[in-house]
Amino acid sequence: MFQSQVVVLIAALFVLQMAIVCAVLRRSAGMERSGLTSWAIGDLVVTLAAVLLAIHGYRPEWPLAALPELALTAGLSMMVHGTRHFVGKPGRAIVLAVLNLPGMAMLLVLALHAAGVLPGSAPGAVSPGSAVLVSPSAVAGLMLGSSLIQMLLLLEMIRVVVPRLPAKRGTGRLAILSLTLVALACTVFAGAQAWAPLSTLVDGHPLVTPDERDNITLCFVFGVVGLSVSFALMAHDRLRRIIERRARHDDLTDVLSRGAFWEELELACKRAERQHTAFTVAFIDLDHFKAINDLYGHLAGDSVLRHFAGLLRKAAPARALLGRLGGEEFAIVMPDTPLETGRAISVRLSALVRSTPCPSEPDAIAYTVSIGMAERQAGENADAVMRRADRALYDAKQMGRNCVSSHDTAEGTGMPRRPRVREREPS
Ligand code: GH3
Ligand code: MG
Ligand code: MG
Repeated sequence: MFQSQVVVLIAALFVLQMAIVCAVLRRSAGMERSGLTSWAIGDLVVTLAAVLLAIHGYRPEWPLAALPELALTAGLSMMVHGTRHFVGKPGRAIVLAVLNLPGMAMLLVLALHAAGVLPGSAPGAVSPGSAVLVSPSAVAGLMLGSSLIQMLLLLEMIRVVVPRLPAKRGTGRLAILSLTLVALACTVFAGAQAWAPLSTLVDGHPLVTPDERDNITLCFVFGVVGLSVSFALMAHDRLRRIIERRARHDDLTDVLSRGAFWEELELACKRAERQHTAFTVAFIDLDHFKAINDLYGHLAGDSVLRHFAGLLRKAAPARALLGRLGGEEFAIVMPDTPLETGRAISVRLSALVRSTPCPSEPDAIAYTVSIGMAERQAGENADAVMRRADRALYDAKQMGRNCVSSHDTAEGTGMPRRPRVREREPS
């Protein structure tokens, strides 16, 4: 008996630690705070439940055998509430509260007892004399109800997280899978827990001995520790993705920042070399952007940059990499795209920019872009292909801006260079 109390207290310590982990994670900017708060509170309530369980083992004459179960139900309800918030499906708080009505009623009875309001109770003390609290059938009913509600809560948790299972392997997928498996195991434990009170209610003889039931409850509490670890893993994965996204994306335009774009470009070069495929890059610069800033102000200039990034996303192929290389300079990497196709895409982008001024007060701001194109040649790295695209961009600027220019072959390869092409769609 002593050993199992120690194990319960160890479980309580684990859950307490998970409450701290959730409390720490919720401090990070961008995290879903209410979900993590609910889980932290849920973990604390489960810690309390485990402590009550241990106390009950020491004091079997304790009249409140159902109290740990009621506390576990309350803790699980908070966790389901937190999970719903975390996956962006808040609500059902009232339903979750209603599931805890037996627990609340019991706390009320206890309070009234302690205050000596109930007939037969001694003022200032919780008397074991109350029929409501000691009646075996009342306790069995409460325990049975709690176990069934716990099963419902666990199934609801599974129902909420499973649709969020990412298709790609990774920590997020692992976290949701483990949460689901542990929740299933806990559902089985809760079902097993329900047997003892059910048989007591039916024929007065428990099929499961109190010790066996305590062991099942112990497994259940450890299962809840597993749930908390899986949830913390889910939250940590989200935090990692938020931080990674912030580090790799430009704040203003939400396309890749210069460093991340360059990394991706290097990878694309290696892949193309390995697979003997072609890709095309477009180097884009907004024309006379300084004049836009001078005329309309820097904030309006920022709006134009955001507006252009929106058009870029619209015009670029689905698998393209979009980056902001600095100031008003952007680039696109179009995988598996020969120069001709890339050029057609750039001409369309240029026309789209011309025909779509940036909404602004009092007047929309019209602007244009110059685009330099280059298709990667065998053996070229990121620097080499971007240098050629930059040359083509320079040509586009020299040719009067608002046009697309392309650079057909690598310099220094000894191959003849075709004339640079200037294209502009009729406006
Ligand atoms: P060109 O047609 O030759 O490209 O001329 P330009 O005026 O576009 O080029 P220039 O290099 O002379 O000016 C770029 C301007 O972009 C200067 C700088 O103040 C502005 N700029 C750079 N970054 C930002 C930004 O984040 N927001 C705003 N509003 N302006 C920026
Ligand atoms: Mg410019
Ligand atoms: Mg520039």
